[in-house]
Amino acid sequence: MTRYVAPTEMREALELLQSGNFSIIAGGTDVYPALKDRPVLFDMLDLTNVAGLRGIHKTEEGWRIGATTKWTEIVRAALPASFDGLKAAAREVGSIQIQNAGTVAGNICNASPAADGVPPLLTLKALVEISSLSGKRVVALEKFIEGVRRTCLQPGEIVTAIVIPETGDAARSGFRKLGTRKYLVISTTMVAALIEPDTKGKVADARVAVGSCSPVALRLKELEADLIGTELNASLLADRLKTEHLKSLSPINDVRGSGVYRQEATAEIIRRVLSDCCMRPGT
Ligand SMILES: Cc1cc2nc3c(=O)[nH]c(=O)nc-3n(C[C@H](O)[C@H](O)[C@H](O)COP(=O)(O)OP(=O)(O)OC[C@H]3O[C@@H](n4cnc5c(N)ncnc54)[C@H](O)[C@@H]3O)c2cc1C
Repeated sequence: MTRYVAPTEMREALELLQSGNFSIIAGGTDVYPALKDRPVLFDMLDLTNVAGLRGIHKTEEGWRIGATTKWTEIVRAALPASFDGLKAAAREVGSIQIQNAGTVAGNICNASPAADGVPPLLTLKALVEISSLSGKRVVALEKFIEGVRRTCLQPGEIVTAIVIPETGDAARSGFRKLGTRKYLVISTTMVAALIEPDTKGKVADARVAVGSCSPVALRLKELEADLIGTELNASLLADRLKTEHLKSLSPINDVRGSGVYRQEATAEIIRRVLSDCCMRPGT
């Protein structure tokens, strides 16, 4: 019979993980639907009650999003404008019920190409804190997700937090997702951007990430470089986008759209998100 355990201390969780055939669960919103009618061949280690894993805190390393922090907590937290993109993504994960149960860490660990949290976290240069009985290690999100449903997590490891290094006060960000309806929809494509202007109103730092158009969401680093120095103006930023900036993407044909449609839609969504970033934060 399947065992279900819900430890309250991290040490206990790590010892249990080491001792048996456990699958980690947090909100369970990816794990449970994936079981369908199949027999459950593993035990379940629920992290929900582990002390110290929940909430968003500012620390010396930046903003720390604990591993059991729910999407709803992201929506409600008082965070700088650089998090507006992540907040917009949080509001579009499934539905209110899914946002109340699902965690940010579960989203990245599930490593779906369509995980809404990944593009905005890439633009925030998120770091993933991983704990095991032998200690802690920190990996950039860009390296953490290795492929479709594949991460660099090793047996016995638990993600304990996502850490976001500070950005400048002037940084602003956005996120847009294209789907066939507003809620409960898997993205056809999605774009997150973070722009930091200098004191003269020109782009000093730019980060643009696209999801659902490659096995792992990607930052478009050539576009980012071409945006630097451009005046913070929607049409001037849009003019910088060229077809070759999208060449690292490999959008597939599936029920949600053809590869060609995805590519064209992505270009338009990039322009819209860059335009969103030109608005004063909070408007
Ligand atoms: C109806 C529905 C709609 C959805 N809509 C969306 C959507 O629009 N966009 C979207 O991106 N997702 C969507 N999802 C997927 C899911 O809700 C999110 O990915 C959510 O963030 C997963 O978090 P969780 O805590 O529920 O993860 P869980 O299901 O608990 O875990 C997911 C995976 O991560 C692992 N894991 C979880 N936490 C840790 C940890 N701390 N350390 C190591 N491994 C860990 C688990 O072992 C499992 O492999 C939807 C799901 C449902 C059921």
